[in-house]
Amino acid sequence: SLSDGLQSAFKSIRGKGKLTEANMRDGLQMVEQAMLEADVSYQVVQDFMAKVTQAAMGQKVLLSLRPHEELVRIVHQELIEILGPVDVSIPIKAGQVTVLMLCGLQGAGKTTTCGKLSQLLKEQKASPFLVAADLQRPAAIQQLHTLGEQLGVPVYSDLNEQDPVKVCRAGVAKAKEQGANVVILDTAGRLAIDDELMKQLCEIDKKIGPDQVYLVVDGMTGQDAVNSASAFNSALELDGVIMTKLDGDARGGALLSVKHVTQVPVKFIGTGEHLDALEAFRPEGMAGRILEMGDIVAVAQEAHRIIDDGEREKLEARMASGQFTLEDFRGVLEKIAKPGLMQKMMSLMPGMGDMKKMLAGGDTDGEVRKMLGVIDSMTTHERRNWKLIDTPRRQRIAQGAGVQPTVVNALIKQFSIIMPMMQMAAGGNSRDRMQMMQQ
Ligand code: GDP
Ligand code: MG
Repeated sequence: SLSDGLQSAFKSIRGKGKLTEANMRDGLQMVEQAMLEADVSYQVVQDFMAKVTQAAMGQKVLLSLRPHEELVRIVHQELIEILGPVDVSIPIKAGQVTVLMLCGLQGAGKTTTCGKLSQLLKEQKASPFLVAADLQRPAAIQQLHTLGEQLGVPVYSDLNEQDPVKVCRAGVAKAKEQGANVVILDTAGRLAIDDELMKQLCEIDKKIGPDQVYLVVDGMTGQDAVNSASAFNSALELDGVIMTKLDGDARGGALLSVKHVTQVPVKFIGTGEHLDALEAFRPEGMAGRILEMGDIVAVAQEAHRIIDDGEREKLEARMASGQFTLEDFRGVLEKIAKPGLMQKMMSLMPGMGDMKKMLAGGDTDGEVRKMLGVIDSMTTHERRNWKLIDTPRRQRIAQGAGVQPTVVNALIKQFSIIMPMMQMAAGGNSRDRMQMMQQ
């Protein structure tokens, strides 16, 4: 990762003697490289590097005890700045119908995101209503109906109508009639930008007058995402961006470029095909991801979802006071031993490479059971104070659990990394949840 890279770069610099501006440039070059690898467009990287260089060349980094950490911190801070300002609210008009319009290329995730937003709105006690305005493909209408049924959200469509503007107008009227208060328009996309599509979307925008227009972009498409964002942005007045498919390997650098091009807030990110895989955008997490530093708050939030309130409070108190033990860890492990969940949590955590590899085989259940077995082979003292576990003890534990000592080492190493982070997360602002403005 970038952080490791910087650390070793600075180590070798130190070994040779004094830290200089010239050496600092090596570190900055690594940052530049990392950003280009994360799909950030060239122009954005150049602008960004100019800012970071200015900040880094100050005495602060050169004089600090851990220059690589200071540099990463500056880069992180700068990233957060340009990814912001944050506004994840969906303004809802009281006593009226609010119309949201989703647009984007075909396959970007518009229809899926319509479903995800409906789910979120329902959780917020709003009553959403979906309109199938993608008349390009008959399958698109069916897809929205299926989602609607799944969610218990009404869907308006008209198979005999060719004009999406008319469908939208009739859909909004229907929604009012039925007492819904948020209408989501699922519009058509194309495989690539074309004039006809843009004209159609402008028509809908002009004649229906949606309150919010959100651009949905596929986070996996890198530079293409930037080009399409630029085209949509000049055709429509966008109010927000939703970037999907950030559950994959995409590092999210494209988001930086999209943000740069559109200058509108990033509202949500899509992190999976499931209807609850929509997260309010947090620049901190995204900046960490771009720098591959992991997203500990997202991990904490994921944990919040699966561990009940009372237990969580106990755990958080123990974490905050540094008393979180392997015993507690075992309890959490047992809870998260659900298919897929473990990998997700691991992928969000920094320094989890080894563990991820262990789990990559697919037999997550088996691997978690193996880890539980390792913890079970420890004495109570060991579980409560992992620092007791020296080499002979590791060997004994490995034998007891029927695993190689490397498995015990990996577990303890990961625990020793997670522990202080959990402590930070529990003590810090891990509860900031999405808030929806009721206007
Ligand atoms: P549309 O053409 O813009 O309406 O795109 P769809 O909503 O039909 O989505 C296209 C594909 O992307 C579908 O297979 C979705 O399941 C998938 N998809 C959408 N959002 C996400 C996401 O956040 N993560 C992942 N992994 N897949 C997604
Ligand atoms: Mg669609």
